[in-house]
Amino acid sequence: MAAGSKPTSSCSRRHGANTEALAGSGITLRDGAIVDEYCWTNLDGIAAAGDASRQYHPLYHEHLRVEHIDNVNRQGAAAVGNLLGRRTAHNDPPWFRSDQFGRNLLYAGHGRGCDQMVIRGDIQGLDFVVFYLKNGILRAAFAINRGDDIAAARQLIAARATPSPATLADKNALLAI
Ligand SMILES: Cc1cc2nc3c(=O)[nH]c(=O)nc-3n(C[C@H](O)[C@H](O)[C@H](O)COP(=O)(O)OP(=O)(O)OC[C@H]3O[C@@H](n4cnc5c(N)ncnc54)[C@H](O)[C@@H]3O)c2cc1C
Repeated sequence: MAAGSKPTSSCSRRHGANTEALAGSGITLRDGAIVDEYCWTNLDGIAAAGDASRQYHPLYHEHLRVEHIDNVNRQGAAAVGNLLGRRTAHNDPPWFRSDQFGRNLLYAGHGRGCDQMVIRGDIQGLDFVVFYLKNGILRAAFAINRGDDIAAARQLIAARATPSPATLADKNALLAI
């Protein structure tokens, strides 16, 4: 099941998961069909992925609903694999990129609850990364025009790495596990 999200033209109303067709189905819904890390709903043999799902994410220990293309591709692949009898957890950190007004915006991970921010690069010049950490563990990163840093950050986030703030802040330092 992957029925997407429900857009709204109003800025004052949050749009949400498109789960109207699932009302009364018995699937647990909370702005998205609740699924475990294998994309299974509470009903036997029913998986869900994409905008219409809210998945337990093993990296963050909470259910996340992610509206991004990379997520629907990877989560959908995991869901289909599991429907075919594999046992594939979907545990990649979410991420997206979007080109806006000539700038490349990128965000990886999930920054809620973080207790430290480290900036690399030049905010005024719109060429920077902000790293978000919790208890020293890299949890998320937002960047403008620094795709290589985000690619490295995705690997560090997936590995629950604890990079030093000095390394994160040094725009010439290699980010590696
Ligand atoms: C304007 C816009 C810009 C975006 N930009 C970006 C971006 O820059 N980067 C990024 O990562 N993500 C972006 N996204 C988000 C990304 O497009 C979505 O996360 C992704 O398309 C979700 O895929 P999905 O398959 O879950 O849902 P969808 O792509 O919405 O597909 C759901 C499908 O289910 C069908 N459907 C709905 N209800 C039923 C039903 N009852 N029965 C049968 N079929 C049904 C729909 O017709 C649709 O074909 C953007 C989204 C929008 C709207």
